[in-house]
Amino acid sequence: MVNEKRIIEEFMELVRINSETRNERQIADCLKKKLESLGLEVYEDDAGSKIGGNAGNLIAFLPGNTKGKTVLFSAHMDTVKPGNNVEPVLADGIIKSQGDTILGADDKAGICAILEMLRVIKEEQVDHGPIQILFTVSEEGGLFGAKNLDPELIKAQLAYVLDCSGPAGHLIVEAPAQNQVEVIVSGKAAHAGIAPEEGVNAIQIAARAIARMKLGRIDEETTANIGIIQGGKATNIIPDKVWLEGEARSLKREKLEKQCQHMKECFLRAVEELGGSVEVKIEPNYPEIRLAHDAEVISIAKKAAERLKFPIVLEKTGGGSDANILNGYDIPTLNIGIGMEKVHTTEEFITVENLVNNARYLVEMVKIIGEKV
Ligand code: ZN
Ligand code: CA
Repeated sequence: MVNEKRIIEEFMELVRINSETRNERQIADCLKKKLESLGLEVYEDDAGSKIGGNAGNLIAFLPGNTKGKTVLFSAHMDTVKPGNNVEPVLADGIIKSQGDTILGADDKAGICAILEMLRVIKEEQVDHGPIQILFTVSEEGGLFGAKNLDPELIKAQLAYVLDCSGPAGHLIVEAPAQNQVEVIVSGKAAHAGIAPEEGVNAIQIAARAIARMKLGRIDEETTANIGIIQGGKATNIIPDKVWLEGEARSLKREKLEKQCQHMKECFLRAVEELGGSVEVKIEPNYPEIRLAHDAEVISIAKKAAERLKFPIVLEKTGGGSDANILNGYDIPTLNIGIGMEKVHTTEEFITVENLVNNARYLVEMVKIIGEKV
């Protein structure tokens, strides 16, 4: 049986380990030991050295005692800031930080559920197929761990990422693709008082482009933002350079491309009118999640939720996660809710009930996949 006391203790242990993005060494070492002691073979890849971090992704494997499909469970090891020296406090069935840091339930609640599941299936000698575990680095930084993973290492035919709000039973079946937009506007510098007619104002070009740009919520499936703008040197110099960074997201590729094209055209038109030049770089950041409603990865998750009487909620999200990247590697991957609340704030919390239910949920899924043979 899932052991509540053990889960609480392990969760407390994990959130106390400093593991802000690119500093996952300590938690990776801790998890490696835990996985090995549970009988898994653990491999650490070289993603860390590629992205300036001190640890790689952990990929672990537990052979099945029945045949059948290999399932992957994944969570990320890094946290956002302020994530150092977390001191968890448990009161009235709720765990939070002391208020000066995040808690790190995002995503240590996911890790915790996976470890407890592995322990329970071992203790109870549950029939299960082969199981892969993936603990990634640098998710919060921009999914860098998952992006630098060698997909050849993943043997699973279906995968669950535990990194979503909403309690167990919340399933993310759609998430948008995202493109990054980088713009450099070049004008011509001139003295603003002596020779303004010789200058071309890059800030004005950028301003005109942005003023006409559709941003924010474009439609129910598409969003766009210009998030960073930098430029200019002094009030008496006509600025010759402006750097901008933005993004667009959509559940539909065509809409994403259309929005990015629109953003580009706004800059081209402003340059045509005001002079100067512009360089617009549009780069895909991550692919979308669009799972068929009858996909096996969903039906298993639904069945497990039904058995445990957890309400099933199929959701769309506007955010990206490691699940986007895994889907991009052609592994049908569902991001599932783990009941973390107010993530990325110092008010982050999770209930003990959710921690327990997460583990129960994974055990149930593993049982269902094991029965399928
Ligand atoms: Zn997360
Ligand atoms: Ca997060």
